[in-house]
Amino acid sequence: LSFSLQAKMSRPVQARRLEGIDKNIWVEFVKLAATYSKVNLGQGFPDFPAPDFLTEAFTRALGGGNHMLHQYTRAFGHPPLVKVLAQFFEKLLGRDLDPMTNVMVTVGAYQALFCCFQALVDEGDEVIIIEPFFDCYEPMVKMAGGTPVFVPLRPNPPEDGKLMSSADWQLDPAELASKFSERTKAIVLNSPNNPLGKVFSRGELGLIAELCVKHDVLCISDEVYEWLVYDGKQHIRIASLQGMWDRTVIVGSAGKTFSATGWKVGWVVGPNRLLQHLRTVHQNSVYHCATIAQEAVAQGFQRELMLYGKPESYFVQLPKELQQKRDWLVQSLDNVGMKPIVPEGTYFLVADISQFKSDVPDVPNSDEPYDYRFVKWMVKNKGLAAIPLSAFYSEAHKNNYTNFIRFCFAKEEATLKAANDILQKWKQEKTSS
Ligand code: PMP
Repeated sequence: LSFSLQAKMSRPVQARRLEGIDKNIWVEFVKLAATYSKVNLGQGFPDFPAPDFLTEAFTRALGGGNHMLHQYTRAFGHPPLVKVLAQFFEKLLGRDLDPMTNVMVTVGAYQALFCCFQALVDEGDEVIIIEPFFDCYEPMVKMAGGTPVFVPLRPNPPEDGKLMSSADWQLDPAELASKFSERTKAIVLNSPNNPLGKVFSRGELGLIAELCVKHDVLCISDEVYEWLVYDGKQHIRIASLQGMWDRTVIVGSAGKTFSATGWKVGWVVGPNRLLQHLRTVHQNSVYHCATIAQEAVAQGFQRELMLYGKPESYFVQLPKELQQKRDWLVQSLDNVGMKPIVPEGTYFLVADISQFKSDVPDVPNSDEPYDYRFVKWMVKNKGLAAIPLSAFYSEAHKNNYTNFIRFCFAKEEATLKAANDILQKWKQEKTSS
């Protein structure tokens, strides 16, 4: 033999499409929280149970005698689930939907987004992303060969004596318009927005829609927090605006909707001319997600369809409960001077850490944004986990907003009280030292 059987590979193995996207903040911050935190307000998931009607539906599906629920189902979505999703979204969108062609079930909203980018974005295409953004949009666009183009929400000072609201973070219309060109294939919209909790107004959505129509651009509309809207605000679906149905893919998540993020059931809703291409990606990658989880989510939606708009509806109750939790956390943060930006939606809240910076000195010339170091210090020294806001900015803009951190308030009252205790104690130590 002219070669050694032990010979190690020497050629590069990493596909070019992964260049520059191998760092992921969740790996690091989830591990830090698991190691050090006493109170974890970091990653976005509830620590309270999913509703009984949903877990009971799962148990029934598991042991209820239909052994076929343990087998493959239809690739593009378990028929009972796509049927009820179509019925539900017909109500929300005010248009007829075909469950087989206008709806597809995915492995969480994550895979729904992946299908969108893989199916619709080509080499050289530009995709507009509004900052701050749910971090996976950027690597997903790049993996598809596209170029992300960022446009920021800019903070405006709040009214005198008022706390800042997520509504104070706005797009500059001229700046947004300047990002559209003949290379623009799509814009990603995330309303209600993670991490700020901003709920885009009809005016803001109208502006985005107008630009999409003018430049013949697609809209990938991530609406996973569609039910989590507070203070009587309305979630407006951009697909319902003139000219937008035909060019919009709506992305949703049962994980967020029913407080069961581990089930990883998501969906897309949109016109067949777009969804047919998403089906090709889905078919050739994951095929489908767990049949039993889909069956249980279908039953959850059947219940919600029956109770639509009624006080017993989970989609009515959950935002009420979360609004209370939001208010608790707002109060805790405001009391100690970690100024909260009051979110209009989602279960996230961004807070200004400026008044706490003296505890966590900056390291000049560090590559790491200040808020990263602040969060690491806080979890190690105070046992409280959060996520740095700059994690939701592109590499180029990471150092623009390093005075903020994101908390998740989808937590039991006891968890939020424990967070309050940590903050109070910290504040006392500060004033006495
Ligand atoms: N989009 C946004 C804006 C999110 O915040 C998340 C989850 N954090 C997802 C999509 C992914 O949702 P899923 O858990 O259903 O994959």
